[in-house]
Amino acid sequence: MEQHIKKLEQQARKLETSTKERKSLLKQATDYGEDFLSSLAQKPAYVDSESMGKGVYELPFEEKPKDFDHLLAVLKSEVDKPGLNPASGKHAGYIPGGGLYPSAIADYLAAVTNRYTGVFFSSPGAVRIENMCIRWMNDLIGYPKGASGNLTSGGSIANLIALVAARDDSDIKAKDFSQSVIYTTQQVHHCVVKAIKFAGLREATLQTIPMDSRFRMKTDALEEQIKADRKDGLIPLTIFASAGTTDLGAVDPLNKIGDIANRHNIWFHVDAAYGGFFLLTDHGKEVMSGIEKSDSATIDPHKGLFLPYGSGALLVKDGKKLYDSQHMSANYLQDTYKATQEASPADLSPELSKHFRGLRMWLPLQLFGVQPFRAALEEKLLLTRYFYDKIQDIDGIEVGPDPELSVAFFRYVPDSGDPNTFNKKLVNEIHRDGRVFLSSTHLNGTIYLRLAVLNFRTHLEDIDLILSVLREKINLLE
Ligand SMILES: *Cc1c(COP(=O)(O)O)cnc(C)c1O
Repeated sequence: MEQHIKKLEQQARKLETSTKERKSLLKQATDYGEDFLSSLAQKPAYVDSESMGKGVYELPFEEKPKDFDHLLAVLKSEVDKPGLNPASGKHAGYIPGGGLYPSAIADYLAAVTNRYTGVFFSSPGAVRIENMCIRWMNDLIGYPKGASGNLTSGGSIANLIALVAARDDSDIKAKDFSQSVIYTTQQVHHCVVKAIKFAGLREATLQTIPMDSRFRMKTDALEEQIKADRKDGLIPLTIFASAGTTDLGAVDPLNKIGDIANRHNIWFHVDAAYGGFFLLTDHGKEVMSGIEKSDSATIDPHKGLFLPYGSGALLVKDGKKLYDSQHMSANYLQDTYKATQEASPADLSPELSKHFRGLRMWLPLQLFGVQPFRAALEEKLLLTRYFYDKIQDIDGIEVGPDPELSVAFFRYVPDSGDPNTFNKKLVNEIHRDGRVFLSSTHLNGTIYLRLAVLNFRTHLEDIDLILSVLREKINLLE
C-alpha cells in the first residue's frame, strides 16, 4: 500500500508548481494582460464574428497536460475577441462594467492564499476587510451603526437576499403568499421578478405603479394602491424602488417613497445596483436623497465602482433582520462559534464557502484613494449631458427626458418610413461596425437607442467617436 501511495503522490505532486514554473506562468499571464490592455484603445467594442468562440471546443480536457502558450493563444482568438468587449471605453450599451487592474491583482492574491472568508473564525482579518467594505457602503447610503450587509456575486443575488429578508421580517406564512403584494414600476430590473419566484412568492402580486413622464414611480398612485390593497385584505409586503433603472437611468422619488413605506410599515428596498455609487457625487446625493430611509439597498461595485464582474452588495439598515433571515447553525461548524467579534458572511447570505470578494474592492480603494472614483463618476454624469446636448444637433434626432444619471435615450425619426425599422437598422449597423457599442430598448412599442456611460475608460474622445459613428450611420441609412 505504501508503494502505491507513494506512486500516486508522485503524480499528485504535479499539482504543486515550482518557483520557476510559477514565475513563468505569471510572466506569460501578465504579458498577455499587457498586450490586451495596451492595444485596447485600438480594439473594437464589439466583434460580430462568424465562429463565435467555437474554437474553445478544440481543447477538450485530456489526461495529458497542455502548453500555456497554446491555451493563451486560444483565449485570445476565441474568448477575448468575439462579442462585446466590456473592458473597452467605447462600450456604452446596457450598463457597462469596469475591470480595475488592482482588482485583478487582488483576485490573484486572494486565490493564491485562498483565505476562507465564510466565517470570522477562520480568517478574521479577511472578514474584517469585507466588513470594512460593507460599512463604507452603508455610510455612503446613510445607514446608521447596526447596519449590515453582504458582498454578493452581483445585484441579482443581492435583490434576492433582500426580498427573502423582507419576507422573513414580515409575519406572513406560505398560506398568505397569494395575498401579498410587492410594489414596483414597470421599469424594475427583471432579476426582481426572478427573485420573487425564487423566494417562493410566485403567487404574490407584483403591482406595477404608474410612472411620471420621466419614468419615475408616481408616489400618490403608490399610496392609493397600498390603501386600496389593505382595504381589500391584501398584505403589502415590500416596495422595490429603483435608484437608476437599467433601461433609462430613472431614479424613483426615494424621499417620498420612504415616507409612505414608514407610514404604512412596509419594507422599503432600493435597487441601486446601477446608480448607487453616484452617491459619491453631489448630484447623485441630490437625486437619491431619501435613500437612507430604505430598509435595504442593492449596490453593484462591478458597475459604479468599476470592479471586474462578480461584485455586488446587499446592505441592510437593521443588520439583525438580515442575520435572522440568513443565519443557520450546523454541528460541524461548532468550533467557529467562539469567534464572535465580527459578523460572518455565512450568517448573512446563502453562501458558505466563497471567494474573498472584499479584497478586489479594498485594494483599489486603498491604492487609488476615493477621490479618482468620485471624479470618474462626475465625469460620467457630465459626459452623458454632453452627449445629450450634442446629439440634438443632428436633424431628426428625438431625445428622451434629461438624463438623471448616466443613461440617455434617443431615436432618429426619418423623413419617411417607419421609425422603428430605421432605428433597428441603425443599432444593427452600429454593431456590425463595432468601433463603438450602443444598445437599444423599446418603450410602449417605440424603439430607442441608449447610451449608458459607466466604464471608467470612457472619456470625451470616446463620446465624440460615438457621436461621429452615429452621424455616419444615419447618413448611410437615410
Ligand atoms: C445590473 C442591474 C441588476 C442586476 O445586477 P447583476 O449584478 O447583473 O446581477 C439589478 N438591478 C439593476 C437596476 C441593475 O442595473
